[in-house]
Amino acid sequence: MVWLLRKCEKCKMYTLDQEKCPYCGGEVRIPHPAKFSPEDKYANYRRAMKMADYR
Ligand SMILES: [Zn+2]
Repeated sequence: MVWLLRKCEKCKMYTLDQEKCPYCGGEVRIPHPAKFSPEDKYANYRRAMKMADYR
């Protein structure tokens, strides 16, 4: 599924407009996807530590 939702940097409104905010004309960004959660960061860190152990 393609994530179409954008979030305005200025007024924090969600929009489907890909280029600019239809409310204030501000810049829109892709909201943080759930996969970049702190839990995943720790999982990657643990994996890296495990790799180091095998050296
Ligand atoms: Zn806006």
